[in-house]
Amino acid sequence: MDAAYNLTDGHCHLANLSSLLPLEPLLAEAGRHGINRWLSSALTRAEAKFYLKQRRPEIRFSAGIHPNYDDCDLNLEDIASLCAEPRIWAVGEIGLDRHGPPLPRQEAIFIPQLELAAEHNLPVVLHIVGHQQRAYEILKGFPLRLLVHGYAGSVEGFRLLSRLDSWFTLSERILKPDKQALLREMVAHGRYLAETDITRYYLQPGESNPLLRLLEVVKRACELAKITKAEFTAAQDRAVAALTEHLDD
Ligand SMILES: [Zn+2]
Repeated sequence: MDAAYNLTDGHCHLANLSSLLPLEPLLAEAGRHGINRWLSSALTRAEAKFYLKQRRPEIRFSAGIHPNYDDCDLNLEDIASLCAEPRIWAVGEIGLDRHGPPLPRQEAIFIPQLELAAEHNLPVVLHIVGHQQRAYEILKGFPLRLLVHGYAGSVEGFRLLSRLDSWFTLSERILKPDKQALLREMVAHGRYLAETDITRYYLQPGESNPLLRLLEVVKRACELAKITKAEFTAAQDRAVAALTEHLDD
């Protein structure tokens, strides 16, 4: 039954997870549950190498200099050369984070990466925590397709970001009772898919396959937003098609 889903995990960190658990059995089991595409993120050189080496067409990777992740060792030259790789699908996750370094320093990393994405006709995966107004001011100057990942900020911030050419991932974070207005607006906006954002750090004790969390996110999002699975997957498929139209396969 599950296998009819054809679900895409719209944001995850498979290379990071693979440093803790062997990935192949997790992917195989996820596939049996209908999860069969991953838009996965590289935030370190080692992670970028991981994606460049692996040959599964169902795993696409993005790479970016995160605004607030100490282990991120990628620099702008790395991003520039990764942008030329045929297997990369987007630049990111990049953005602004109110818990990060002073804003001018974040912008000095964020803006050149937007320029690289525009130059290579790649979408951008955004991590926006606070600073939605500033992010909007910067982003409206770029003709970019945007995937705003795991957004759980204010409804006003969502409305601002949704004026751009943007899609949103539904995450565990907006299944909480105080986020229902946001979830309903996101679903009504129609440009969404779901994510796990899974990394090795989020693994729970005794959890054998965190990739399966996507099933729960989709199930609960559908219940809470009162949409059918078919409506969800139709929106997801439109999102994936629009976001990956620049790719060959
Ligand atoms: Zn992430």
